[in-house]
Formats: sequence, structure tokens, C-alpha cells
Amino acid sequence: MTRVPFVFQNSKSGKKETFRPKDETNVTIYSCGPTVYNFAHIGNIRSFLFVDVLRRALLLGGYKLNQSMNITDIDDKIINESIKRKISVEEFTKPWTEAFFKDLETLHVQKLEHYPKATESIEDMVGLVETLQSNGLVYEKDGNLYFSIQKFSRYGELSKIDVSGMKSGVRYDADEYDKDDVRDFVLWKNQKTEEEKCWHTRIGNGRPGWHLECSAMIRKVYGSGVDIHTGGIDLLFPHHENEAAQSLGAYPNEEFVGTWLHCEHLLVDGEKMSKSKGNFYTLRDMLEKGYDPNSIRYHLISAHYRSKLNFSLNKLEESKIAMDRIQNVIYRVLEAGNLWDQVPNSFENRDLTNSELQNLNLEFINSLADDLNVPKALASVFELVRIVNQYLDANQNTIDISFLKESIQLFYKINELFAVFQFKKQIQSIDGISEEWILEQIELRKTAKQNKDFSTADKIRKELEEKGILLADTKEGRTTWKKIQ
Ligand code: AMP
Ligand code: ZN
Repeated sequence: MTRVPFVFQNSKSGKKETFRPKDETNVTIYSCGPTVYNFAHIGNIRSFLFVDVLRRALLLGGYKLNQSMNITDIDDKIINESIKRKISVEEFTKPWTEAFFKDLETLHVQKLEHYPKATESIEDMVGLVETLQSNGLVYEKDGNLYFSIQKFSRYGELSKIDVSGMKSGVRYDADEYDKDDVRDFVLWKNQKTEEEKCWHTRIGNGRPGWHLECSAMIRKVYGSGVDIHTGGIDLLFPHHENEAAQSLGAYPNEEFVGTWLHCEHLLVDGEKMSKSKGNFYTLRDMLEKGYDPNSIRYHLISAHYRSKLNFSLNKLEESKIAMDRIQNVIYRVLEAGNLWDQVPNSFENRDLTNSELQNLNLEFINSLADDLNVPKALASVFELVRIVNQYLDANQNTIDISFLKESIQLFYKINELFAVFQFKKQIQSIDGISEEWILEQIELRKTAKQNKDFSTADKIRKELEEKGILLADTKEGRTTWKKIQ
């Protein structure tokens, strides 16, 4: 299969580069995942949806993926909260981890190949620290082990941070970092109090620093570096710089990451949505208020991942209207061609023959291949909506079924990225009776008529009428229904 060539804005070079994975049939991608101590807010969710867009776009481009996202289930906040509640770290993180996966499911995020947990990768972290020790990059202070930035000449290459003013031996040993403040960072933390979660290891009794977790989990899953590494823009420095320092410090002759991708923030009134600022919505807040998860997904992915997105409920409503425009034309085509039951089976692996649709298909995938330009891809989708609506308006009596089928085929492919559109008749409940039941009655009546059992057919029609449902038989032999006003 020919693969679509992708271009990505690589944070490492600051430039758009042609994507060249080591193996197109096994593209390795690692994404920094959630710290499981609370519900994710929709800012966090924006960064997870970005990973889903990356995945779905590369799959559409014909690549095979081997993707992972870590679960940070040990850090200062988690330890403090579990001590406060007098429960173990595992008991504390379990429901938050489950809530995270549930949120992803609600938003139709595809499952990845691996979800490594920090607490299950301790041995790999210990091994990595030992390698760094033998490379002379580690020193000890008060029982903690630190990475010595001044001994690693490539420090700052990724984030372009200036290390020249750094005094040697200034250290960070917390998991929270000040922006732009360059210091030696902790690899392994000594246990301070009895209650603190602790592992008894060759490098001491304690627990890992946050940055160490990701470097070790990448090594654990892939045995090497990765083609793509992603995270929110706030992780570029110091988290990703420190990951790179650890991994390149341990394995200087290997490439750690081919392409670094960073997703911009979701803002509220111009400020980053964050737990500490208190200006956040969780997905659950939104669902409780009656917002539809599909429109949240559509809204969060329809902006370019490298643009800041200012969140407001008004803008969310606007996105819902745009999304409904696409959905309505899909329903319109399915109804006009009576194609309801044919999606997706009859459309798989077919090539489009209509040249207008072929062009839109190409534009769509090429926009995604251009650094995941979803807004540009959406422009092609709305052009498709316009063309199809215009066609249906102009050709009410002479519909070309193959055009309808091909347009649905294209919408279906578009939905491989958006994952919010429906292709099945919605089962609505009308005064206590479901559409599913009505369709069953229509089928029974059809069978009765085929068997020349007209009294049963009439009985079914009457029963439906008594329930307020009127049937109409079309010239083509189909039966439609509507509610009696
Ligand atoms: P955390 O659970 O805090 O470790 O964050 C998980 C992911 O969410 C990280 O990749 C962060 O960079 C990302 N993130 C946090 N806040 C925002 C925001 N307001 N907009 C977009 N991404 C965010
Ligand atoms: Zn990470």
C-alpha cells in the first residue's frame, strides 16, 4: 500500500519536516498521559484528543502504529492525597484511572496498544538510573539522586532554554516546577516519612522523580527511542528536556525521539485552563449540564493543535451547529438513496469514481498530512456538504444512486477521523414506542402482504394508526412512516 507522506512541525528543529519513521509498518509513538489524582479537565482532554487525531490521521494515511500513553500513578500529589485519606496509593489512583479510561471511551478515543503505568515500571527506572550513574551524570544529596545538567552538554537542545546562567548544584526535588528555571532535577527521591510510598531498590529506598518515569517507560515498551513523542506545550520544558537528557545521557549513540509534537493549550478568558487556577470544566461537568460528548469532541479537535483555543460555551454551541450541518446532509443522502442499512459494509475498499469527490478526498487527507491541519480538512468537508446539498436540491426526481453511495463513502471516511457522525437511523422513542418497534411492524406487514395475508397486513396498519403512526407505501415498493399530527 502506498502511504501518504506526512509533514510535521517538529519542536526539536522548530521546522516543518517530512515524517520518516524507522518502520512505516510499526510507527512508534509515545504520549505523556494523565496524572491520576482527579478527573481530567477538558484542557487535559484536548491534549488526549490531539493524540487520537494523530493516530486516526496516520491510520488514514496507511501507516501501522505501535502507540503508548503512560499513566502517572505516582507523584507528590498522589502521595499526599493518599496519606490524607489513609489509603494506599493503588487504592487512591484506581478510580481516577478508571475515570480517565471512561472519559476516553465517551469521546470515542481509540484504544492504544500500550498504557504503561509508572508503578509497574520501577525496575526499568532503577536500571536507567544505574546506566546514568555509570555514565557519570548522577550525584547524591541527602539520600536523593540528581541528574547533573552541567555534565550533559546537550541540555537545552530541545526547548532551546539557556543554561549558561545556571549555578552548579541548584536542585529541584519536587514534581512541580517553575517555568524557565533551570536546575538539576531529581531522579530518585529518598523516603522522608514512614507513610510515604516506597520501593526498596538497588539505588535506595524511595520513589522515582516524575521525568524518570517517561524515559524508563519508553525504553520498557520499545527497547529504544520512538518516532514521535507528544505532550501539551507546558511539558516541553522542563519535562521533555529532562526526559531527553536522561535518555540521551544513558544511550548517547541512539536517537531518543525523531519528531516531538506539542499541543497548544485550551484557554479560558485568555488563561490556561488548569486545576490550580480553578478555571476548569471536567467532561462530567459538561455532560451533567446536558452537553453532548460528540459536540465536545468535534469542538476540541476542529481547531489546529498548534493554535491556542479559547473555550466558551457559546463557541461550543457554534461548533454543534456546524457539526449538525454535516450530520444532516449525511441523513439526507441516506434517506434519499435508502442507504441506511448499507453502511459501512458495501463501501469498504472501493475507489471513488466521481472526480469531484476524488478531489475532495485528496484535499481532506492532504490537509491532515500537512501537520494535522484539521481546520483545512474541515473546509473540504463543508465543500462536500455544499456540493451534496446542491445536488439533492437540483435532482429530486433523477437521483444518481452511485453519486449518493460515493458521497456517503467519503463521509464515512471523514468520520474515521471525527468519529462523531451517525450512519444508522436514530431510534427515537415516540410516545413510549420506539422506532425499532415500528420498523419491525413494517417488516411484519411486508411479509404478510408477500404471503397474501392481507387481513394481518391491515391489522398491523390499523394498530399503528391507533398509536398515532401513519404508514405510506411508495411507488418503489418501500414503506415510510410518520407521526399523525
Ligand atoms: P496532567 O494530568 O496534569 O499530567 O496533564 C495531562 C496532559 O494535559 C499534559 O499533556 C498537559 O500538557 C495537558 N494539559 C494540561 N492543561 C492543559 C490545557 N489547558 N490545554 C491543553 N492541554 C493541557
Ligand atoms: Zn512524560
